[in-house]
Amino acid sequence: MEKENLKKCRNCYYEVKKGIRRCPYCGIVNPTLELKEVFVMTLGVIAVLIIYSYLFPMQ
Ligand SMILES: [Zn+2]
Repeated sequence: MEKENLKKCRNCYYEVKKGIRRCPYCGIVNPTLELKEVFVMTLGVIAVLIIYSYLFPMQ
């Protein structure tokens, strides 16, 4: 018996394959991505920007 690793789409709540790039039902990108992960990624990007502007200050 095969069981796919399914997760609910965060937008339309249909079950989609975990880690799929785009929801086949509503078309959003990364439908199984948790808000927590998005938050961590956003913090990471901000941290990189702060470090970058510290290392290379605008003249
Ligand atoms: Zn969806």
